[in-house]
Amino acid sequence: MRLSRYFLPVLKETPGEAQVISHQLMLRAGMVRQTAAGIYAWLPLGKRVLARIEQIVREEQDRACAIEVLMPTIQSAELWRQSGRYEAYGPEMLRIKDRQDREMLFSPTAEELFTVIFQNGAKSYRDLPRNLYQIQWKFRDEVRPRFGVLRGREFLMKDAYSFDLDMAGARHSYNRMFIAYMRTFARMGLDAIPMQADTGPIGGDLSHEFIVLAPTGESDVFYHENWLHPRDTDGIDADDPAALEDFIAGLNQDYAATDEKRDLDAEAAAGPALRQSKGIEVGQVFYFGDKYTKAMGVSVQGPDGAPVTPLMGSYGIGVSRLVGAIIEASHDTAGIIWPDAVAPFKVALINLRADDAACSAACEGLYAELSAAGVEVLYDDRDERGGAKFATADLIGLPWQLVVGPKGIAQGVVELKRRRTGEKQEMTVEAALARLTA
Ligand code: ATP
Ligand code: MG
Repeated sequence: MRLSRYFLPVLKETPGEAQVISHQLMLRAGMVRQTAAGIYAWLPLGKRVLARIEQIVREEQDRACAIEVLMPTIQSAELWRQSGRYEAYGPEMLRIKDRQDREMLFSPTAEELFTVIFQNGAKSYRDLPRNLYQIQWKFRDEVRPRFGVLRGREFLMKDAYSFDLDMAGARHSYNRMFIAYMRTFARMGLDAIPMQADTGPIGGDLSHEFIVLAPTGESDVFYHENWLHPRDTDGIDADDPAALEDFIAGLNQDYAATDEKRDLDAEAAAGPALRQSKGIEVGQVFYFGDKYTKAMGVSVQGPDGAPVTPLMGSYGIGVSRLVGAIIEASHDTAGIIWPDAVAPFKVALINLRADDAACSAACEGLYAELSAAGVEVLYDDRDERGGAKFATADLIGLPWQLVVGPKGIAQGVVELKRRRTGEKQEMTVEAALARLTA
C-alpha cells in the first residue's frame, strides 16, 4: 500500500478526550474515530488489526473443534422472554421497536439464540458434543463507556456455546476452550492470566476470566508471581480429556483470582510471591449447565431413548477490546509497537527523498519485490520530510522500518530498524530483502 493513496488520518496532538494510552494512540494513529458515546468507526489501519485478531481467534476456535456460524445482531424480545432474561437483563440491553410495534433488541450476548438454533438441528445424543461460535458485534448500553474500545457500547465479540450430554463431556469442552484461549492470547504476544472468576447464582468453580495485566485495567487481580512466566501449551493433546484436566489442574495450583473470588488462605500460602495488580479482562469461559436448555425446554434423545437435557458453557473473547489491550501492553513514548502476529503491515518502507530519482527507483524496486513475496508493506512515498515519516512510522508501530536514503542507495545500502528494540542495521538491498522475506 502506498501511503500517498491510503487513508491514514494521523493526529499530531493527543486528543483531550482520551484518558488511557491505547485510546490516545488509536486516535493519533488514525485507527478509529468515535461516532457516538462508546461507538467507533474503524478506519483502514484499525480494521486491519481487528481482522488479524479475528483471524487468530478463528483459527484457534476451529482448532478446538468449534464451528463458526453467524447470528443476527437484532433479536426478538420473545426469544429472551423464554429464558426469563428479557426483564432480568436491565438497562444495558438496547431495546428497539420495529414499525409493527414488535419488541426487538440488539444482542448483548447470545445464549438464547444459540440454544434454540441448536435445538432446531440436534435431535439425538449423536448430535453432541457440539460447540458453535460466531464473531459478531454486540451492543451493551454501558453506564460509563470509556477508555476507547476497551469499554465501548458496540464491540466485537467472539462468543462460543458448547452443548454436552454429561458433566464429564462438559468439563472437557470447557477445558478445550481454556487451552484454546491460552493459545489465542499467546499468539497475539499477550500474557493473559486465567483467573478464578465469580459464577454468580449458578455457583461452582467453572469460570475463568483471562486477564491482561495493565495499570489502566478496571479489574483488581491477585496472583502468584509464577504467572509472570508464560506457559507452554504446545505439547498438550486437547483431544485427551485426562491430559487436559491434569494440565489445567497443574496451572490452577498457582493462585490467580479476580477480586470477587479472592481466597485469603490461598493468598497467605503464596506469601511474598503474591502480586496485586490491575488488569483488563480479554476473555471469559463459563460453565452454566442446564440453565438455558432447561428454561427453554431443550432436550435430545439419549442413548437409552430417554430425553436428556444438554449441559452448556459459553465462552467470550473481546475481539475489539483486544486491540486496545495489546496497545496497553505494547507501546513506548513514540507510539504503538505491534506484535508481529497482529501488525497491520509488516514493514514501513520509508523513502527519505521522494524527489530523488535513484532513491525513488530503489524504493519502487523494494516495494515490488516485497509485495511479490507476499510481505505487506506500507510504502511512505509522500513528499514529506524524513523526520515526519519517522514519527509516523514509530506512531503506527509496524514491526520493521526499511529506510532508503540517497547517500546509502549510492552505495547499494539501506537501513533496517526493528521497531520493538530500536536496533538499526545497515545492509545491502539484497540482504534487507532476504531478511524481510525469510
Ligand atoms: P466487563 O466485566 O469488562 O464488563 P463482562 O464480564 O460483562 O465484561 P462478558 O459477558 O464476559 O463481559 O463478555 C465477553 C468478553 O467481551 C469480555 O471478556 C470482554 O473482553 C468483552 N467485553 C465485554 N464488555 C465489553 C465492552 N463494553 N467493550 C468491549 N469489550 C467488552
Ligand atoms: Mg466477563
